[in-house]
Amino acid sequence: MGRSVGGDRKRLNESLDKYLGRSSPSTSTTTFRCTNGKDHRFSLSKSKDQLRNTSPPPDNKCSDESETDSEASDISGSDGEDTSWISWYCGLRGNEFFCEVDDDYIQDDFNLCGLSSLVPYYDYALDLILDVESSHEKQNELVESAAEMLYGLIHARYILTTKGLAAMLEKYKNAEFGRCPRVYCCGQPCLPVGQSDIPRQSRVNIYCPRCEDVYTPRSTYHENIDGAYFRTTFPHLFLMTYGHLKPQEISQSYVPRVFGFKVHKP
Ligand SMILES: [Zn+2]
Repeated sequence: MGRSVGGDRKRLNESLDKYLGRSSPSTSTTTFRCTNGKDHRFSLSKSKDQLRNTSPPPDNKCSDESETDSEASDISGSDGEDTSWISWYCGLRGNEFFCEVDDDYIQDDFNLCGLSSLVPYYDYALDLILDVESSHEKQNELVESAAEMLYGLIHARYILTTKGLAAMLEKYKNAEFGRCPRVYCCGQPCLPVGQSDIPRQSRVNIYCPRCEDVYTPRSTYHENIDGAYFRTTFPHLFLMTYGHLKPQEISQSYVPRVFGFKVHKP
């Protein structure tokens, strides 16, 4: 099913949009696994060179797809038959901003309240995330896409919990969310943030705690990540929780000059 990538994606997004009844910037990354086995995991993106495979198929049923994979080596540490869906998904290139949500958190219905009305194929998607073997044959692209959306929305809630904040702290310490591109911020590590709490309204941005501004992530892989999977609250609650990490404000700012003289505004 991975041969007509563009067509599949378009059809998939159209189907989801139809289901969700709203227009879409058509930017969601779509990840597929073979329907005939849990271990055949690969992801489809817009271009062929983004096609990737995290786990070599043991019985070659998916060899067509894996042969087109030019970036298999980008993924590390997520191979193996025991890899959970969550570990696999968070290990995909472009998903570096996501932390791994605890199974316990997802299994508590209270934490998922209200999400069933937002996510299509909710039950199937939840089974997929939790690696529950489904008795039904509903595991197709739409369910895969729904699982990504469901995971994102659960993630948005999880990262506001103590455990979630701690998980994101580790990533922040490693500057996994990228660094501020502003010269005077001196490579300040950033935090992911959404411009809206509603799915499909905005892409994820990065927030710099030093200059307190938001930027587009540098990697094009992050273009397809929905801002609602991080929400508008996260970086600010994070910095309130870990106040000692809040960097000092910068007094230095850029001054435009012509032949050494400040440019006066009219
Ligand atoms: Zn900055």
